[in-house]
Parts: sequence; C-alpha cells; structure tokens
Amino acid sequence: MITSKYTIRERNEAIILQKIIDENIVSRANLATITNLNKASVSAITKKLMEEELIKEVGIGNASSQGGRKPVLLTFNRRSSLVLALDIGTNYVEGVLSFIDGTFIETIKKRKIDINEQTVITHIREIISELSEYTPETRHGVVGMTVAIHGIVVNNEIVYTPNYPLDHIKLFDELSNSFDFPIFLENEANLAALGEYTFSSKFNSLVSISIHGGIGAGIVENGLLRNGKHGKAGEIGHSILFPGGKQCPCGNEGCLERYASHRALYDQIEDTLNVHNINSDRIKEYYDENNQQVKEILLENANYLSIGINNLSSLYDPEIVVINSSVYQKIPELIDYLNKNLVSRFTRDVIVMNSPLQSSATLLGAVTKSAQNFLNIQNLKFID
Ligand SMILES: [Zn+2]
Repeated sequence: MITSKYTIRERNEAIILQKIIDENIVSRANLATITNLNKASVSAITKKLMEEELIKEVGIGNASSQGGRKPVLLTFNRRSSLVLALDIGTNYVEGVLSFIDGTFIETIKKRKIDINEQTVITHIREIISELSEYTPETRHGVVGMTVAIHGIVVNNEIVYTPNYPLDHIKLFDELSNSFDFPIFLENEANLAALGEYTFSSKFNSLVSISIHGGIGAGIVENGLLRNGKHGKAGEIGHSILFPGGKQCPCGNEGCLERYASHRALYDQIEDTLNVHNINSDRIKEYYDENNQQVKEILLENANYLSIGINNLSSLYDPEIVVINSSVYQKIPELIDYLNKNLVSRFTRDVIVMNSPLQSSATLLGAVTKSAQNFLNIQNLKFID
C-alpha cells in the first residue's frame, strides 16, 4: 500500500472540514479535541481552508472556564462553490444551479419534450447555458455536475433505460469532453435516497422508496450508496410477491410493482369505478368523500407495499424508510397503516415516513454527489 504525507494531510483536511460542517460553528481548540489532531495541525489545516475560502471566521466565543483568550469561531463557507444538478425524465429535463450546501439559485424545467439519443445532449447543453446566466461570483465556480437517469447506471455508464432510449449513447464521455468540471451519472431513485440522507435525515442508514409507474429504492449507509455489482441493488419493484402472478415486462411473474405501484393502483381504481385518467389528486378526493371501494383498494395496495418494505428491511436493516409518492404524500394515513403493518420482531423498529424533500429529493441527491466529491467527504450532512 502506498501512503504519503500528502494523502494523510488531504485526509486530515477532509476530517477537519467535515467537523466544521457537522458542528456548524466551532473553535480551533474544540476541533483539536474532537478530531484528536494536535493544535499545530489544526491551525495549519484551518489556515489552508481559510485561504481556499472553504471556511470563514464568524466571531468570538466565550473563554474557557480556566480563563485565557476568547477563541475565534469558524464556520463552513456555504457560498464558496457551485454545483449543477440535472434530472432527465421521460419527457422533461430539470436543471438546478445550486450552492454547494444545496441552496438552489435557479431552477429550469423543460416539459413535454422528446428525450432520445439525438435530443438529450442538446437539451442538457441548453439548460446548462440558461442556468449559467445566473452564476454568481464564487471562489471555486462550478465544481461538479450530476445527472439523474431513470434507469440502471453503473460507474457513470447507462446500462438500461426501459422508459427512454438512452442506453446506447456515451453520455458521460460526451459531457466530460464538453465541460471542465467532474461529471457523474446516477440512477434517479439512488439520488433521491442520497438527497434524503444528506438534507433531511439525521440517521446513518436509510432506504428511500420511490413509487410512480414502477417502484425503485435507494439504499444509503454512512453516505455511501449501495449500488450492487450491476447497479441493480434496490430494484425491489421486481422482487416477487406472488409466484406465478401477473406478468412483468422484466421477465418475472408476480413482481411487487405489478401490485403496489401507482400504475397498479390507478388501473385498479379505473377498472373498479369504470372511470379514466385517475391521478393522486382524484384519489385524494375519493378518499375525502369516504369512497369505500377506493379505500379498500388503497389499503390493499399499501398492504402489498408493506410486504415489500418488510422484505427490504430484513435485508438491509435501515433506521428509516422514506416513501416518495404523491399518493402517500396526500394521504398520510397510509403511512400510519404501513407502520402498523410492520410488526415482526425484525422490522418493528424501522420507522416509515413520507419524504420530507418530495420532488426535490433527486436534485438534492445530485447536489450531494458532486459536493461529496469536491469536499472529499463521503458522510456529508447538511441539516439545519
Ligand atoms: Zn418485474
């Protein structure tokens, strides 16, 4: 194994920086105590971080009980650098220019557009060009861009995109050749999990379940996404609920998402009530009108989901499961129902809750990915 003073110093820099972010406001003396680094090292590292404008002084603290000089307090400089975050949906591209701490400066969304191999690069370029007009003066400028893909991604390579034809282009190479900053491609549900981890949760292990036409999950432990060898970790939508059940396009029969996704829910309500164009708003209206048929279907759907959560929890033992769903968001009683269903001695400690970030989760996860890389901090938390 090769080590050098350089890598050790870099590591200590990251440790100090992380502690300053975690503590929000802290003195050099406290940093030395928390990190077990000597005061001279802390002094040298904080000097360098100050020069790079990654941290700043914010005032004078109280003297210790033994008296002596009052300490200068340090804080993370949330305005030192910028990141770009993009979400490539099936018929939209949403882009955000953000400070490194997840404070959005500008958001642009192009809707009802055709996403394919010919158009995607143009759409991305246009959105970046429009966002760049809002770029404020910062020390480091844009330090990374992360692009959310609705499909399987392995090491920045798009492997499989069932909802749009993007699995035959070298998007990472194209973007890396066009821009100076580091580029990352990542699955959308994984980024949603990373966003919740960094910006909404104090917990160290988290599963985020995104429910829409299908069901996907992202798994984060100590800031690290669990992608699996082929990028397919967390694809619980395709875990089998009923052997020999409904045919799924993936090749299995009886997959969870054929029973517990929004598509499954909407189809069943449309068939039962003989109506069209069901959406989460309509379902909420039926629910408030106390429509018994819809309520039964909702509970059945949630019951299937709770089996999926049970199975996922017994594999990963997360502290918290975050549900990202427009239906669960509008009918929070369904979350109570999920929690009541998780009664086994293996899953009863798991907390299920609605996503605090909702539609921002994926873009905030994209911010996290670039920020983790630039700051060299994996276990990054920005929680006020
Ligand atoms: Zn399937």
